[in-house]
Amino acid sequence: MKKLKNLKFVVIKKNTILLFISLIIILSCFAFLPTIITASPRNALTIVIDAGHGGIDAGCEGFLEGSNERELNLVYAQTLKKFFEDYGINVVMTRTTTDGLYSALATNKKKDDMEKRRQIIEKSNANIVISLHMNAYPLSSVRGAQAFFNPENEASYNLANSIQNEFIANLPYAKKSALKGDYYILNCTNIPSVIIECGYLSNSEEELLLLSDEYREKVCYTIFYGVVKFLG
Ligand SMILES: [Zn+2]
Repeated sequence: MKKLKNLKFVVIKKNTILLFISLIIILSCFAFLPTIITASPRNALTIVIDAGHGGIDAGCEGFLEGSNERELNLVYAQTLKKFFEDYGINVVMTRTTTDGLYSALATNKKKDDMEKRRQIIEKSNANIVISLHMNAYPLSSVRGAQAFFNPENEASYNLANSIQNEFIANLPYAKKSALKGDYYILNCTNIPSVIIECGYLSNSEEELLLLSDEYREKVCYTIFYGVVKFLG
């Protein structure tokens, strides 16, 4: 009888230990849960970066060699892509070379190019679209980075303002406010989109800055920061 009692005690003790271990395992799973939760929304985000122009369309041109939108928009897009990816955000690029997106057989290459960009944007299921450009104006004194938004899309407006505020705070030349724009890339989708004119290639001082690696990093980090602030 005493032996049976001892056996019962051993079984109960074993069950208690097992219950205790299970409890620790369950609790430790919950302890790791916040890390998983905070990491997942970032991973779920996708941004389309659209380097404007390309191929036969060089876009705006500056005074110096290689100073055109076909080349510059691409390197700016690559720099911006790196900032987002390092932060854990997925990036879809509309172009990764200096070529345009149009088919060689297309009669209207500009139209075909823009249509291909729209298709990439729609397929991406992205949260936002950022189209990168350089500006130019006949009056060479005009300068400053500026974000353009779709006035019909509140998120586009808020995103543009968030980026513009960072331009004003961090860049030597920035316009005083974001501007509404009636552009295909803003209107072709319901995804909140902005066009970023990084600066004026027609202003030689700003052109020199835009061509330097340091300034490109600064502009792209400022855009990245404005987007992160918008995303909250
Ligand atoms: Zn452009």
